[in-house]
Order: sequence, then C-alpha cells, then structure tokens
Amino acid sequence: MEKQSGTISTVAEEEEHSAILQKEYEEVKRDLMQISQQKSKMEEIYKSSRRRLVREIKRKENAVESALLCRICYDKMVRPFTLPCQHTFCIECIRKLSRNQENYGLCPFCSKPFRLPQTVTEYNYVIEDIKSIFG
Ligand SMILES: [Zn+2]
Ligand SMILES: [Zn+2]
Repeated sequence: MEKQSGTISTVAEEEEHSAILQKEYEEVKRDLMQISQQKSKMEEIYKSSRRRLVREIKRKENAVESALLCRICYDKMVRPFTLPCQHTFCIECIRKLSRNQENYGLCPFCSKPFRLPQTVTEYNYVIEDIKSIFG
C-alpha cells in the first residue's frame, strides 16, 4: 500500500471535522422533517378542500336535479310547460289535471287557476337546456 500524500490529520482534527459533519447532518435532517411536515399539512388541506368541493358540487347537482322534477309525476319533466303562476310541470301532467274542465285547472302547487291553450307548442326552454346538461 502506498502512503497517501497530503497532510496527515490529527485525531483532534478528525473529531472536529466529524462533529461539523454531524451538525450539518442534523440540520439537513431537521429541514427535511419540516418539509415533510409541511407537505403532509398541505396534503391535508388539499384533501379537505377537495372533499368540501365535491360535497358542494353534489349538493348543487342534487338541488338542480330535484328542481327538474315534475311535482305531479315526480319524474324529470317532459316538455315542461310553465303556468301563469310560474310553476312548471310536464305538459301532459297539466293536461290530465285540466282535461275535464275545458282546459281550466288549478295549479297543484299553489292552487292558482289557469286555462291551458288548445295547442301548446312553446315549452320552458331554460328547463330543457338544463335537462340536456344533466342528461
Ligand atoms: Zn310530470
Ligand atoms: Zn302555481
């Protein structure tokens, strides 16, 4: 074996060097731990805000879907027709209500009287549009 060139360090020097390394190592370890703690904190914030967002979207979706239900047949409105009182039902459901009264009827929701035109060709397009979004 060849002898290494350079200075020969004393035991005291080596110990000092190793103490510095140890100190640096501890600092890096502490930094890493802090980073890891911050990371899990951020992940928790991200997860909980994501959960909140999903809950909120579902709640709104349910509210919209339930607003699209006909309060007579409790199904999604088919050819939604809005009465003068602004309550909206499937045209066929309204027809059944008014059939025996010369197209006169009472809104099943607020009991306001209405008279249905002989032919209905115009429907609530807003509801039709929203329905198409929800499929
Ligand atoms: Zn209906
Ligand atoms: Zn009404």
